[in-house]
Amino acid sequence: MSGHGPFGMNRRVLVTGGSRGIGAAVVRAFAARGERVAIHYRDAAAAATALRDSLPGDGHAVVRADLADAEAVRAMVDGAAAELGGLDVLVNNAGVYLAHPMLDGSYEQWQEAWRATLGVNLTGAANATWCAVRHMIAGGGGRVVNVGSRGAYRGEPTHPAYGASKAGLHAFGQSLAVALAPHGIMVASVAPGYVATDMTVEELATAAGDEIRAQSPFNRVATAEEVADAVVYLASPGAEWASGAVLDLNGASYLRLRPLARAVFGVDLARDRAVADVVAVPQAETLARAEERGRLIVDHRDRDLGAVTWMQRLPVVPAQLGGKAAFVAGLGQMVRAHHQGVGVIGVLARHGRQP
Ligand code: NAP
Repeated sequence: MSGHGPFGMNRRVLVTGGSRGIGAAVVRAFAARGERVAIHYRDAAAAATALRDSLPGDGHAVVRADLADAEAVRAMVDGAAAELGGLDVLVNNAGVYLAHPMLDGSYEQWQEAWRATLGVNLTGAANATWCAVRHMIAGGGGRVVNVGSRGAYRGEPTHPAYGASKAGLHAFGQSLAVALAPHGIMVASVAPGYVATDMTVEELATAAGDEIRAQSPFNRVATAEEVADAVVYLASPGAEWASGAVLDLNGASYLRLRPLARAVFGVDLARDRAVADVVAVPQAETLARAEERGRLIVDHRDRDLGAVTWMQRLPVVPAQLGGKAAFVAGLGQMVRAHHQGVGVIGVLARHGRQP
């Protein structure tokens, strides 16, 4: 590979929040692979400059902006592209983690926490992407990698705006993965659990630190370098097929399950029937079918509500359920337990003897 551009070496990479923590590790990882990097910072000018001076290769740049300031973001991205001679990769890494428990503080403080958090973590990243994508398209394609968080899935009870901002960032990445693919741009996110950086150093040093480490069966938190390696992978030419992905980096501390279309049966023995306990699938439609046939219909669907063909032999159970309700309910539980990603829809028609 030669020259620069989206798929060659010596690509032009912009890392927001590159001055410290995960961002600095991402900067070092790209530079070690022969890429040229623009290190974005807000306050940590000395750290950003020292990092640039320590990098292998030349042509690296330092750029500044408050990500909450849309015009400053535009000037920063355009400045990075001007200094590097274009842009092939954007890493949306900068972020804030502000505590604002819902029952503490005033209404004004609550609003300020939401404004400050979303302004940087979500809108800031969206604005940086808007600006960067124009340079990528001019160069024939590119990569956008978002640094999201496990908190998007696990919840952030004392930092709710943070959790929401990261869930939003993941969703933003997935939307753009579809929208930008025709332009040769792939978009993906990483969702790290705790990482040892300035953001977490105080918390990890308290008594809660042991508890946090114990969340992972490896009994530790991540290093910034582990996150950086994943970001570099997602930005690599060979990772196009990971577009739209959200890659968990949490040391098995939180296992996401694929959402099920419908999961569990409940049993209503008093009324002699099995009932589905979630109501997200087209139940009305299925009910009508069940009423019509006077039978209990157990359907197996994947998460997109497509029928899972090889299971279709199980499904139809005659109307006179009686004691079979419990069996059918158990069957539903069993299928669910053994087939991740398969939902079970159960609907019971009124049968003859029921009032
Ligand atoms: P960090 O050490 O606190 O560094 C935060 C970076 O973001 C700094 O470079 C900072 O720039 C920049 N930044 C903050 N506010 C900014 C603003 N208003 N405008 C522009 N830049 C701003 O954080 P980190 O732990 O490396 O986290 C990096 C990313 O990983 C964040 O998005 C974070 O949410 C995510 N993450 C972290 C963890 C973790 O446990 N550490 C876990 C999951 C996800 P200056 O220093 O120059 O101001």
